[in-house]
Amino acid sequence: MDRCSFCGREKKDTNLLIAGISGHICDRCIEQAYSIVQEELGKKGDFDVSQLRLLKPREIKEFLDEYVIGQDEAKKYISVAVYNHYKRLLQPSRETDEVEIEKSNIVLVGETGTGKTLLARTIAKMLHVPFTIVDATVLTEAGYVGEDIESILTRLLQVADYNVEAAEKGIVFIDEIDKIARKGDNPSITRDVSGEGVQQGLLKLLEGAIVNVPPQGGRKHPDQKMIPVDTKNILFICGGAFDGIDKKIANRLNTKTMGYRASKAQDKIDRENLLQYIAPMDLKAFGLIPEIIGRLPILTYMNPLEEEALRRILTEPKNAIVKQYQKLFKIDGIELEWEEKALNYVVEKAIEFKLGARGLRSICEAIMMDAMFEMPSTDTKEIMISEEYARQRLEKTNLKRLKAA
Ligand code: ADP
Repeated sequence: MDRCSFCGREKKDTNLLIAGISGHICDRCIEQAYSIVQEELGKKGDFDVSQLRLLKPREIKEFLDEYVIGQDEAKKYISVAVYNHYKRLLQPSRETDEVEIEKSNIVLVGETGTGKTLLARTIAKMLHVPFTIVDATVLTEAGYVGEDIESILTRLLQVADYNVEAAEKGIVFIDEIDKIARKGDNPSITRDVSGEGVQQGLLKLLEGAIVNVPPQGGRKHPDQKMIPVDTKNILFICGGAFDGIDKKIANRLNTKTMGYRASKAQDKIDRENLLQYIAPMDLKAFGLIPEIIGRLPILTYMNPLEEEALRRILTEPKNAIVKQYQKLFKIDGIELEWEEKALNYVVEKAIEFKLGARGLRSICEAIMMDAMFEMPSTDTKEIMISEEYARQRLEKTNLKRLKAA
């Protein structure tokens, strides 16, 4: 009697039984085997860290240029840091080498919506390594309400599909790092989760340690088996707005430039954009502990986005907002064009609402909503968004909602 050689079902119990040279397989086992194949291949294909191809810093920057407008200084710093980080990681005989290249974690200082997350995300996209974003504000010391520091790595494990080897070479973006600054040094902090305690916890991850990570995260699953993860090769990119740090910078620059050659040096300071002078000691004055600062050796800044940059963000990046709408309409066979003036109008409004780059999308969405609703049901083949049209649509929307976005 013929049976499936895998599950043992008899032919009559299967929908289909396929004969091989020395055995049989039924339809169910084929399906199951196929899904195992997909899963295994998927795992490898997604994050095959052995395939990590190292681009040169200049190439890394060129890649970033395709997605992120401006921010040349930050891009340069990040390109070098990432290059060195993965170069170090690809060194086979690191352990025995005399010179050990230290990890180059990065800290990005800049207003919200200037592209910090975008930069980190783009780097991860380029390298094809697991990437996760965590918000430092939810982190607390063990025992407090909130998330334990280890939860950062839970997320990374999850996006890596629990492929520990891949996760150990991933990138973690810690947003709002400024919010765990020490209270006292920074009057704007109102919450008391003892920023310093969280910083101490974070320190361990940043410098590289084997951390026991709860695979499901949180404290809801007390019985879960911990997975040890080595953070030695995980690249941490921290971002924060550091509100008010410009005053610390100004203070430092002022005290330094008093006396000898004071006036000459002071002339050169660009008071409009003090962030460009940021130095580790400013982070300390802001309330980060020196040990943390020491573990974030690459410090760079993001420029505020001016009108010209916002205008470029609308159309230039590889996945620019305007290109995305064009693609959406193209699927319905509709050519979408924007008048130059309409685009300038969007920028003008983003500035007026103080929404920065983040607002460009919500403004465009408000303008495009009616067209996206109506047009697919008509024979329209072309749409031109004029300034007048944009203005009308935007005035129709509840601007309050937009501003709160
Ligand atoms: P941040 O992390 O600094 O608060 P984000 O990276 O989240 O800011 O930026 C928010 C959105 O604004 C991004 O998704 C992106 O669409 C847009 N954006 C911000 N800065 C830039 C930039 N320099 N180039 C292109 N797009 C940008």
